[in-house]
Order: sequence, then C-alpha cells, then structure tokens
Amino acid sequence: MDPVSGHDRAADVLLAEGKVAAVGPNLEAPGADVFDATGLVVAPGFIDMHVHFREPGFEHAETIETGGRAAAAGGFTTVCCMPNTNPVNDNATVTRYIVERARHLSPVNVFPIGAITKGSTGEELAQIGAMREAGAVAISDDGRPVMNSRVMRRAMELAAGWNMVVIDHCEDLNLSAGGDMHEGCPSVRRGLRGIPSAAEDVMVARDILLAELTGAHYHVAHISTMRAVQMVGYARRRGIRVTCEVTPHHFALADEDSIPYDSNYKMKPPLRAREDVSTVLEGLVNGAIDVIATDHAPHTGSEKMQEFERCPFGVLGLETAIGVTMEYLVHTGQIDLMKMIELYTAGPARVLGLRRGRLETGWPGDVTVFDPGRSWTYDVNRTVSKSRNSPFHGRQFRGKPVAAVVGGRVVWPQD
Ligand SMILES: [Zn+2]
Repeated sequence: MDPVSGHDRAADVLLAEGKVAAVGPNLEAPGADVFDATGLVVAPGFIDMHVHFREPGFEHAETIETGGRAAAAGGFTTVCCMPNTNPVNDNATVTRYIVERARHLSPVNVFPIGAITKGSTGEELAQIGAMREAGAVAISDDGRPVMNSRVMRRAMELAAGWNMVVIDHCEDLNLSAGGDMHEGCPSVRRGLRGIPSAAEDVMVARDILLAELTGAHYHVAHISTMRAVQMVGYARRRGIRVTCEVTPHHFALADEDSIPYDSNYKMKPPLRAREDVSTVLEGLVNGAIDVIATDHAPHTGSEKMQEFERCPFGVLGLETAIGVTMEYLVHTGQIDLMKMIELYTAGPARVLGLRRGRLETGWPGDVTVFDPGRSWTYDVNRTVSKSRNSPFHGRQFRGKPVAAVVGGRVVWPQD
C-alpha cells in the first residue's frame, strides 16, 4: 500500500542497493533474500517526527541505540529526535554528534531537530543555519515554548530562509504554571492544579499570526485542543503554511480515562476533555491534522515513582503507536488503512521536506510490514526502551508491526 500513488494491491517489492528497485507482481530476483509478507500490509517505512532519545545527557532513560531499537520494534524506519538533551542540540557540534552516533548505533534513520533558541531558553536564536548544514531537519524548543513573540518572529524569518519548518510546543507557561493535568472536572475532583486548554490555544493563535506575517512554515507539535484544531483548519483555508501532528495518546485517551495520580498518564499537553478528543478525531478524518507522531518521552522508574506532582511529564510511544492507531482509528472505522499509512509516511515526509515515505522505484528502501488483524497484549516490562512509562501497559490491541526494513536491510526482528 502506497498512499502517494494510491497503489493498493498484492505485489512484490524488490530492494537493491538500499533502494526500491521494483514494485510489481511476480518479480524475478534470483539469489535475493525473500521476506514472505503474505497476508500482511507492506507500506513505506513509517516516520515518527517527534521522539526524545535523551542522548546526550540523560542516557539512563534512553539512548540513540535503545530508542532506535524501540522505533524499529514499533515498525518505524525513521525518527526525528527533539533537541532537549544536555547539552541542548542548539549548535552544529551537538547535531553532528547525534548524526554520528545514530549512524553507528541506531537501526533506524535518525534526523535531529535543532533548537530554536540557545539552550532552549527562549531568548537568543540558536545556530540555525549551521545546524541545518550539519543535518538538522527542523527547529523546535520542544519541551518548552518560545514565549517571546519577537524571538519567534525572528526564528520564523530565519527558518523560512533556510527552508526549515518551525515546530512549536504550544504552551503559555503563565497559564499552565503549576498544572499537572487538564483543567476540568477530573482535575477538580482529584484536587490537582489544571492546565487550561487556553494555554495551548493562545500560543497556536499567536504562531498562526506570525506564520502569516513571515510566510514561514509553522508546525504545531502534539496538538490536543478543540480550538487549536479549529484554528489550524481556519488558517489553512486562508492559505497560511500551517501543519500539525497529534499523538496516539491524545486521540485515544481523555482526561477522565486516566488512572488518578498514575504518572503514566502525566504528559504535556495533558490528556484533554472528551470534546477535545472528538475534535482531534474530526481533524484526522477531514485532513486538518497531517501527521501522527508519538512524542516518545522516556523517563526512568525512579523519576516516575515520585508523588504525582513531582513526576516529570511524558510517556513512551514508539512500540504502541501502530496498535493504538489500528485499535482507535482503523478498527473503529474513523479512517481507512491507507489514510493511517499516510499519517505515518507521506504526511511527515511532506511536513519535513524529506524524500521518504513512498514505496516506488528509486525511493529509499525503507519498508514497514504490519499485520492489521493480529491481536497482542502490550507488556511494558518486555519493551526494548530503557524506560517503562506507558499508559498502555496490559492493553490488548488488534494490529501489530511485523518487520522494519531500513535501506533494504531487515533491522527488526533481528534473528
Ligand atoms: Zn512538547
């Protein structure tokens, strides 16, 4: 299945020299290794444009190697890693370090995302051009917003010149301060301080205005509110270059679904109200949302075992993405398989300007193979990630990754 060409048929895929050499029925390739994908879906390699691999600086929680293995086990062949490491990826030296480490240690392609500002402190612009030349594919201060509108304007102007997308983590820190979950009935009942939807909405509104002013391509990370999705739809109808992504946990779970005080449900943005989840689903169906990205955010057990208010924000995502998406979007009839594949392949490739996400002759030999009907239970204790913080532990899904092929080589499962 290839969403760009619309091909949906039984065929052989021949990979040679790292590329797709041919797609068609009954291909002859004497001596080639054969992967029998009878009854399975063969798609372009899945891309996750939003992960945190914690290296350099927080290798106890994840590394480029373990994160790369988790990506492959989840059926991904390409990931983009956010710059909130230590040191922050705000200059070409760190960018090159990540690119080099990934080349040697990661089974999947890893493209770094550079910081917007030095140290992601939101004040002074980072070395955007130098990071671009070192291999950064986008800029973001993810984990933090760019609060200063003047700085964001300059970043957008510069990024437009370098033909890079600006990804913003949309959170007004003054509105969200002290909040641990979405501000609504469940937060009141649990006696927890809330993060209002407005904390996201005002930043999306501002960024859309700045994208219009500068002509830059602006991308909303992990969109989660009704108003934000509506505003993105409005901006696109007006011809403003805005795209956005949603995480599996934000379209699968609402605030009231979370287990009280369980830090495996604590993330930013928080799980929102049921009406927000419905609008996100509409956005996936009507095309307002371009991409599903996991925001894979590993934290170790000791970090996540503190009292709820002290726990860091973030949950794993790579190994459950296909299962959650099949279960909540495809088997429920919200979207078809082809649309799901697009949200994981051509969608992110288009946002980032990557020449990936197609299963056609001459394109990179990255392939994801999955079984849309296979039932399985996710056991976080058997994850290949270094961390265990998932809200989906013990959940049963129908739809499972079977293999990840990167540059013509089967990288998962390993034999
Ligand atoms: Zn974020």
